[in-house]
Amino acid sequence: MSPDGVARKSIDGETGLATEGEPVYGEPTADGWRLWDRSRSKLAVLLDREVETGLDDGSTVLYLGAASGTTVSHVADFAGPTYAVEFAPRPMRDLLDVAADRENLFPLLKDAREPESYAHVVEPVDVIVQDVAIRGQADVALANRQFLREDGRLVLSVKARSEDVTRDPEAVFEEVEERLAEGYEIEYAESLEPFHDDHLGVVATPE
Ligand code: SAM
Repeated sequence: MSPDGVARKSIDGETGLATEGEPVYGEPTADGWRLWDRSRSKLAVLLDREVETGLDDGSTVLYLGAASGTTVSHVADFAGPTYAVEFAPRPMRDLLDVAADRENLFPLLKDAREPESYAHVVEPVDVIVQDVAIRGQADVALANRQFLREDGRLVLSVKARSEDVTRDPEAVFEEVEERLAEGYEIEYAESLEPFHDDHLGVVATPE
């Protein structure tokens, strides 16, 4: 089930998911709708597959690894309060511009490995979306579990090469899933290919 604020549209000869909002990265637009490019967004791949992410219209979201706002801008188009954590100042500058058009998007220049540094700002959330691409991706998800409502969901993108460039991605994914199981029950874990090589898409619920 997808949120009503995410629809399938054909724009400029391309068909795919779209949200209603101000354009951000040169994506095709029509009548206020903007196409959501699966090759630039791991979350779009999951929504396109109709995976139950828990995201709905008005959901409260904690987004870890917002970068310059490509994916989180689409999320904020249909979600409720959307807290966007990014620790690199350069993409944060772009993210601030994206947030200027979205009053429900709250950029936080913080390190997702230090959730105590934003715990005073972030309320309990329905969904954590995580796409940080650093070593220790399961640890980041476990550290931020405290923000997730009991019936909430974690939507995690795991980049194998960020954990260890030399190892077989399947072995890395297995290890990440094992670590994640220390705080979450995994509902879905599938490769995000062909859109994102060596990435695993995971949906999990807190245990
Ligand atoms: N999710 C983005 C999208 O789809 O538009 C792309 C995210 S990019 C793959 C990963 C981002 O995570 C980078 O901008 C990086 O600076 C950020 N990041 C990595 N480690 C982080 C951390 N510990 N805390 C906050 N941001 C982090």
